[in-house]
Amino acid sequence: MFRRILIANRGEIAVRIIRACRQMGVTSIAVYSTADRDSLHASLADESVCIGPPDPGESYLNIPAIISAAEVTDTQAVHPGYGFLSENAKFASICRECHIEFIGPSAQALSLSGDKAACRQAVEAAGVPVVPGSEGIIKDPDVAMKVAQKIGFPVVVKAAFGGGGKGMRVAHNDATLKHDVALAVTEAEASFGDGGVYIEKFLEGARHIEFQILADAHGRIITLGERECSIQRRHQKLIEETPGPGLSASLRARMAKAALRAARAISYSNAGTVEFLLAPNGQFYFIEFNARIQVEHGITEEVTGIDLVREQIRLATGEHLGYSTVLPEGAAIEARVYAEDPELNFRPSPGVIRRLHLPGGPGIRVDTHVYPGYEVPRYYDSLLAKVIARGKDRSEAIERLYAALEEFTTEGVTNTARICARIVRGDRFRRGDIGPDLVDEYLPSMG
Ligand code: ADP
Repeated sequence: MFRRILIANRGEIAVRIIRACRQMGVTSIAVYSTADRDSLHASLADESVCIGPPDPGESYLNIPAIISAAEVTDTQAVHPGYGFLSENAKFASICRECHIEFIGPSAQALSLSGDKAACRQAVEAAGVPVVPGSEGIIKDPDVAMKVAQKIGFPVVVKAAFGGGGKGMRVAHNDATLKHDVALAVTEAEASFGDGGVYIEKFLEGARHIEFQILADAHGRIITLGERECSIQRRHQKLIEETPGPGLSASLRARMAKAALRAARAISYSNAGTVEFLLAPNGQFYFIEFNARIQVEHGITEEVTGIDLVREQIRLATGEHLGYSTVLPEGAAIEARVYAEDPELNFRPSPGVIRRLHLPGGPGIRVDTHVYPGYEVPRYYDSLLAKVIARGKDRSEAIERLYAALEEFTTEGVTNTARICARIVRGDRFRRGDIGPDLVDEYLPSMG
């Protein structure tokens, strides 16, 4: 087991990893930017090192600064969390070249999963259905036109090396496609340093269903069940739950098998997530692989009793998985509370949290890094907290989550707790009639 782990991240996930380290008797080392000097992760960790100015390029994405911090603190392993360098194959290789274990999959698996166009091809070759689309990256807008005409509009243009919904554009006809491709390329270049894009058929009304997997370095791979994540804004998740409402046992089993096959196709190890779209006609298609711990991992932990961060650390030391089947029990739902204003199309609402009230009670878990007086920096993702409710069944989890979200208060910054509360209390959500259009029904501008 590692004695010392450096956490190359910030916010709630850094706090989550520090807690896992403490429970495992491992010394935790936080890194922070000057904007995060007063952050909870920097004060909770056993040791902390300032790695640069607020701009992520100079701090949380600054590989030399993070490697230096790891070396001066005599770190044996780095946990990258999610976002930032978590899926960066170059960072993983540099860590290992410096004899620092990267807590995650191999650099080869990261390279393949990080190139979404190539990953689609590898997974399709292994017999898993993918959304109809282009073969690999598209460079020429005329090729984009040919692919779109073949698969039929609407289509979605996606950044091959992207994430977080950035660089994604839906094109409804020939007239806008060229413009959409050009915009997606520009956005992808600006956000990810690579303008490669690819095209998929846009599946109207499709649900996002993903499978959590765990794989050891000795060839054993298991799934820990699915998560339903269709409730999103700007193609980013807002509410997630497990099990997925309305999924039959046979569909779940077929999707789980496809998830394992996809993971094997890229020789995956450690914790990861296989994402699928489930079309209204019941067909499912692979969309991408997330080679990291996900924001929404907590709901899987609540129904399986497995600490996924602990498993990531344990598997990175080369330990065997040690179990082959996990039977989830009950239901869990998560609402992400962001410092954003839903009335203003979810515009970020940074600032100082003057007063804070966090909910609690049976079956409620709040993963957060905020405290009264905390200033939400404008440089980073605006996630304030994840409110997770567990119940013996879905309706108990809904009741608990609704009550918890109604209590959640931040004065000084606007948050997304109330809109999430209204969604989970609504008839459609309670019926389990989940879809990507659900959020729209609660937006003021949409009436
Ligand atoms: P990112 O990596 O940026 O999150 P994804 O490929 O995972 O991008 O897509 C984000 C979300 O957009 C998905 O969760 C899904 O809801 C929606 N989406 C992606 N691809 C399609 C598609 N082909 N048809 C319909 N919706 C899609």
